[in-house]
Amino acid sequence: MEKIKMNVPLVEMDGDEMTRIIWAKIKEHLLEPYIDLNTEYYDLGLEKRNETDDKITTDSANAITKYGVGVKCATITPNAARVKEYNLKSMWKSPNGTIRAILDGTVFRAPIIVNNIKPSVKTWTKPITVARHAYGDVYRDVEIKVEGAAKAELVVTYANGEVAKQTIHDFSGAGVVLGMHNTDKSIESFARSCFNYALDQKQDIWFATKDTISKTYDHRFKDIFQEIYDNEYDDKFKAAGIEYFYTLIDDAVARVVKSEGGFIWACKNYDGDVMSDMVATAFGSLAMMTSVLVSPEGFYEYEAAHGTVQRHYYQHLEGKVTSTNSMATIFAWTGALRKRGELDNNEALINFANKLEEASIKTIEEGVMTKDLASLAEGTNIKTVNTEEFLLEVKQRLETLI
Ligand code: NAP
Ligand code: MG
Repeated sequence: MEKIKMNVPLVEMDGDEMTRIIWAKIKEHLLEPYIDLNTEYYDLGLEKRNETDDKITTDSANAITKYGVGVKCATITPNAARVKEYNLKSMWKSPNGTIRAILDGTVFRAPIIVNNIKPSVKTWTKPITVARHAYGDVYRDVEIKVEGAAKAELVVTYANGEVAKQTIHDFSGAGVVLGMHNTDKSIESFARSCFNYALDQKQDIWFATKDTISKTYDHRFKDIFQEIYDNEYDDKFKAAGIEYFYTLIDDAVARVVKSEGGFIWACKNYDGDVMSDMVATAFGSLAMMTSVLVSPEGFYEYEAAHGTVQRHYYQHLEGKVTSTNSMATIFAWTGALRKRGELDNNEALINFANKLEEASIKTIEEGVMTKDLASLAEGTNIKTVNTEEFLLEVKQRLETLI
């Protein structure tokens, strides 16, 4: 078979620990034998980030704005222990945070569904994709512990000196107070990323806030979404046969639990933090969760939602056999290759990405899986395999499909 050609490069961002091992194995077994892989390679492994004063991370994000699509391996976000372990010059920032700031994007997380692992919520037969607004609100707040009787005020001083002021509370005793913010610009980017991704996936999009209680703050989110939808997306949504649905957050939660899935759920920052963990857990496993960062301009960065699986890596270093699940990392690659194929009208590449996903799902549905899934799966003939065996099992099935 002749290898599939790629005209435009994909931005490849390598990473750390166990996922770095998996990364190389996926390329060796599942990609390079079939595709003339055309990637612009950036090593975001911690050593290289340290060596380049983290410039490599910025360079890789800029490359995505040039080529449109990237695929990223999980990376270590350094803490004090890592600074010591890797003898770092500085506690470098989270690469994902840096990339997100450059692309101004929204993260969409979706589970990979297989028929022998049942979600905790019985009605969920299709994936629910959670989109979290990743700026502001309580994550960028300021807080004061009030020690005794006091008047707390909210004061906004404009550039021209005008002042808007409101009393928050007249404290008669001790308490707490916080101030938080968001910007129209960030909410607009969030809305556009969500609407674009809904069109891309041909799925309905839901959005919810608490606008009945928060009549200015949350209401601003509701209004911005509605204005952008009416002005820029209504026609496109109708043509695609999909819907934008707004409701209150508590109503949304109730409807999500009763739904069959198959839609995108856009969440404010805190709601997204909480609900993405709830949805991920209910679908079964973090190792089966994919993640894509979508910018309002339509740039895409695909990755697994999980981290570098440090515990397995240390076992691997001790020479022990690991059983690490590579599904989410395989799907990061297939997502990126499919998107590359769509942008470049490369049918062969799109077809290959679809077949690789099909082969991966088929492997698990036939009972062959890593240890993390074996305890969750239904059925009696379950064969637990190690990290590399799983990839070889997928490869066998892939070859019967292409
Ligand atoms: P983690 O790598 O997601 O792993 C936590 C635990 O979840 C693992 O020990 C393992 O459980 C299970 N797990 C996760 N992915 C798995 C997989 N593919 N197959 C099998 N089991 C899997 O989280 P962490 O240990 O908290 O973080 C490790 C490093 O990753 C940290 O340095 C953190 O900064 C980084 N991180 C990076 C990203 C990213 O790049 N997007 C995201 C999160 C964390 P058992 O040990 O019970 O088997
Ligand atoms: Mg959380």
